[in-house]
Amino acid sequence: MSVTTKLEYTPLAEIPTIHAALKAGFNSGKTRDIAFRKKQLLGLAYMVKDNIPRFEAALAHDLGRPQLESHLMEISLCVKDAIDAYHNVDKWAKTEKAPFTLNFVALKPTIRKEPKGVVLIISPFNYPAWLCLGPLAGAIAAGNAVVIKPSENTHATSSLLAELVPKYLDRSVFRVVNGGIPETTSLLELQWDHILYTGNGTVGKIVATAAAKHLTPTTLELGGKCPVFIDPKYDLHLAARRIAWGKFANSGQTCVAPDYILVPVEAQDKFIAAFADVYKEFYPDGAAKSDSYSRIISEGHWNRINGLLTKTKGQVVLGGDTDGSQKFIAPTVVKNVKADDSLMSQEIFGPVLPIVPVASLDDAIAYVRGNDHPLALYVFTNDADFKKKVFESTQSGAAVANEVLMHTAVDGLPFGGTGPSGYGYHTGKYSFDTFTHLRSSLDTPGWFDVLLRNRYPPYTSKKLNT
Ligand code: NAD
Repeated sequence: MSVTTKLEYTPLAEIPTIHAALKAGFNSGKTRDIAFRKKQLLGLAYMVKDNIPRFEAALAHDLGRPQLESHLMEISLCVKDAIDAYHNVDKWAKTEKAPFTLNFVALKPTIRKEPKGVVLIISPFNYPAWLCLGPLAGAIAAGNAVVIKPSENTHATSSLLAELVPKYLDRSVFRVVNGGIPETTSLLELQWDHILYTGNGTVGKIVATAAAKHLTPTTLELGGKCPVFIDPKYDLHLAARRIAWGKFANSGQTCVAPDYILVPVEAQDKFIAAFADVYKEFYPDGAAKSDSYSRIISEGHWNRINGLLTKTKGQVVLGGDTDGSQKFIAPTVVKNVKADDSLMSQEIFGPVLPIVPVASLDDAIAYVRGNDHPLALYVFTNDADFKKKVFESTQSGAAVANEVLMHTAVDGLPFGGTGPSGYGYHTGKYSFDTFTHLRSSLDTPGWFDVLLRNRYPPYTSKKLNT
């Protein structure tokens, strides 16, 4: 199947015009109608469902992504988010009664779920469809007009979004802007009613600074180094299989991928032996020949990851081969990695797994506490005290035992970071809430002045004492 390989950027001069058109579209009131929102959510679901082979081809072109991985980790989530919002929007958008109080019940206090207005969603390359369309589902359900700005690094997927969105969604309130830094900068100069940005923290600061000029609320979905604590008493083969899947899917380009392993020094080799077994199961003829393994997004990122690997003082025990011409980096495990190693200097965001041997659980906890709060923290243990100790002495976006990545797909859980891994939440109802203003409301009957008459001047001492 053919894909568009050169992304067409939105002309800079059009960006303020698009913003103004969406403001007019929002002010027309059409997005307030729940039936309209539902029609658009169905349109969004069909946009993906009708074009699954095209999304698969685009993701395969951009990331060398295997079909099954695209399905499980991207396409099915886009459809699920749109359909969930479709089924739930009546309930989510319903005006709520405030909790009963005898004093104020007659004022009919309610909480109206109002759209924030015209919102901007900026997304990254690693899950280029889901990280646009998932939040878009929440923004549509909440009744907003929306611009999505997909990543400029995923030419085929971002081109496909630009082609399909106008065919399936109402153009007067939903638009795609494609482009790089100049186009995003131009978007950020405008006044939005909410910005949801997913990507790295350096750009997150640029987005938050630009938003602050307009007092625009933001949601920042950022990254970080997600640690994995290993209890040596746990089934190491099971731990290795789950970790290897989460680390090597999408060639490690997953914000919640395990970044590094903390394992007691005496269990390091046992863990690596278990990992080696899994490695053979996953890639029997090697990852380079496997059709179950993605590629790195760009030459720049390939150079960055390859550089970290070249400089490591640890010992490569699995993988290690790379091929710049294919943007290939083999699933790689490096042992005896120390805190000052190149591999510990930044989020790896690639298929290289450093193993950091530790003297004790306290040392492992101290290491994690001494660094930025990660987006996810993983622990493999069946020991409730081990888990409790790790969870209660650390902070992270998510705290997950005996599993990796899955918390992002589980219904009802918020997806978000804390501290340098971001703030705010999305997925499901949390996306709806992100793009919703809770508007307090009263409707006081005339007779209530009988009870409230003391509030009016003149403030006599008689009124004060009754
Ligand atoms: P990227 O390079 O595709 O950039 C992300 C977005 O930022 C793009 O739309 C891009 O156009 C925009 N951008 C880039 N430079 C900019 C600038 N100077 N000014 C304004 N906008 C600019 O992707 P990335 O940032 O490399 O993404 C990877 C990072 O995202 C990792 O750190 C990863 O952990 C994080 N991430 C987080 C989540 C999450 O949900 N928390 C999900 C996925 C990725």
